[in-house]
Amino acid sequence: MSPAASPPPDTDRAAASRAAVAARRARAAVKAAVEAGERSALDVAETAWREPTGPEATLRVTDLLSSIPGIGRVRTQRFLDELGISERKRVGGLGARQRPRLRGFLRNRQPRPGNALFVLSGPTAVGKSTLSEFIRESYPQVYFSVSATTRKPRPGEIDGVHYHFVSDAEFDRLIAADELLEWATVHNSNRYGTPREPVFRAIAEGRRVLLEIDIAGARSVRARVPEATLVFLAPPSWEDLVQRLVGRGTEDPAEQRRRLATARVELAAQSEFDALVVNREVVTAAREVVALMGVPRGIRSDA
Ligand code: 5GP
Repeated sequence: MSPAASPPPDTDRAAASRAAVAARRARAAVKAAVEAGERSALDVAETAWREPTGPEATLRVTDLLSSIPGIGRVRTQRFLDELGISERKRVGGLGARQRPRLRGFLRNRQPRPGNALFVLSGPTAVGKSTLSEFIRESYPQVYFSVSATTRKPRPGEIDGVHYHFVSDAEFDRLIAADELLEWATVHNSNRYGTPREPVFRAIAEGRRVLLEIDIAGARSVRARVPEATLVFLAPPSWEDLVQRLVGRGTEDPAEQRRRLATARVELAAQSEFDALVVNREVVTAAREVVALMGVPRGIRSDA
């Protein structure tokens, strides 16, 4: 055969490796779109089953699930086990019984229409308030509930912005008048609660609402507003959490011990939540939270 009809093996290999690189890039773009909340995992799966030669079809199910905001690697493995899908399976290679199982699973994870209420919770000292401060500054479309609290203001905290600082008597009145969507006593000391009216007014105005509250409060919201999405903010490790709590130096050693004991119990609550975000780095964690909320990214060039 002439060289023109049959290219030398080297050229074959070069072309094949170029094709492999292009395919990998296309799959990475699909994953990035799911991670950013720009594309739903369900849409990716449906596309894979319609177009068996596309990048969606050659994406591994593991990669698809782990790119869904709030799932993470540990949960991906658990979901794969529950779905009876092996780790190496590609979306396009799923069998007739596996496809409806994955479809059902992904449908249940679609943002529910009308669901505008989101709760950000997690163990003490995980960095909830730093993260919500960052989201507040970077994503002004998110409506932040301002809690009422009986705790005294810390330096720099502004009444009506960070909290409504109220007396014990006023907090009693808010409870009695049923003006709080939820409330809890945090760290056995002060009471904190979410004023109901502003939250529902913001939802009625079509805004996405974020409550940054403790785990007991998250449970109360679940009981009262079952369609709310509960997001658990987890530390990268237990050591990291201890470091944060001791490092910030705002509590004395006895209070630190008490809060660490609480944190251990709180970490165990993550399975009750709809989504998990690991707080490795504030910008990335914020992006994951707003992607879960269906807020478009790119409001600030660095956010
Ligand atoms: P801090 O006193 O450090 O601002 O907050 C202490 C804890 O109270 C944090 O875990 C925070 O999430 C929680 N918290 C703040 N506001 C509320 C609220 O309205 N309800 C509940 N249940 N917890 C809150």
